[in-house]
Amino acid sequence: MYVVRAKWKKCAWIFSAAFLLGLLPAALRAQVSAPATCSGGLELKLSAPESAQGTLLHVELSNSAGFTEVQGEWAGKEVPFWLDATDPKIRRSLLGVDLEQPPGSGKLVVTAKRENGESASCTADVKITAGHFVVEKLAVDEKFVQPNPEDQKRAEQETKRLHEIYAGRTPEKYWNGAFRFPVAGPRQGTNFGSRRVFNGVARPPHSGLDIHAGTGTPVHASQRGKVALAGNLYYAGNAVLLDHGQGVYTFYCHLSKINVKEGDMVDAGGLLGLVGATGRVTGPHLHWGLEVNEARVNPLQILPAVPARKKSGAAKKIPQ
Ligand SMILES: [Zn+2]
Repeated sequence: MYVVRAKWKKCAWIFSAAFLLGLLPAALRAQVSAPATCSGGLELKLSAPESAQGTLLHVELSNSAGFTEVQGEWAGKEVPFWLDATDPKIRRSLLGVDLEQPPGSGKLVVTAKRENGESASCTADVKITAGHFVVEKLAVDEKFVQPNPEDQKRAEQETKRLHEIYAGRTPEKYWNGAFRFPVAGPRQGTNFGSRRVFNGVARPPHSGLDIHAGTGTPVHASQRGKVALAGNLYYAGNAVLLDHGQGVYTFYCHLSKINVKEGDMVDAGGLLGLVGATGRVTGPHLHWGLEVNEARVNPLQILPAVPARKKSGAAKKIPQ
């Protein structure tokens, strides 16, 4: 028997979810329900019926029938769920829309099982809209546009390693509470997803946010996590990749100094290193990235909402 749960109390769950997660991304402030079709007593809620490339949705699964194994699939990738901290009937997840996921319709499929083999499922259709990304024309050292064969091989091996890490789904949820902006001062950075042209050559879109900061500025962990990678990469320079668990990773690049090592557990706000200008850059800044279940998402999406700020100061030209 299929139960359509298209009507739900939008505000109640949004704010309870935001409270329990300790976050309410700015992009999720205006909420409407998303239709989902479920069997077996499950109920699925998404924070919005549509989402743009590079953004994030919250998912809540009500599992009052007591299924023990729950797993989702979205854009061909595994989507894990964590148990709500206070209500064992509720499981939650974050759904990332990759910055290059084609506009159109995306389908989230959630399956639930129990030991006796009984199963149930939910599906939700999410409209994917095109993101608005600028084109950046940048001048960098030619070796970062036409690397020699040795550097090319090194860069490819590093990219492979990063993909292998991102493909991991650490079942623990290491983070607790709100994610933070990684440097002191106001949130800034506008070039997530930009289509980039280096020395006249088109390159893949920019998968993070470039934050203007001087060399030596402390870089802090956005939330608690385990250091999955700490070292020098060809394009990213000195870099730290944090695994927050549940398929959520944040990436900090171009550092002048790294203060952590692989395997370390770092608390929210812990010192990861210092801003620098290593790797493919035009000047000192912090490149901050977010991947959620292998979807490249604007990291500002995972921060709590803040009151609208004056635009002054946000339009500063950022070295790449
Ligand atoms: Zn960058």
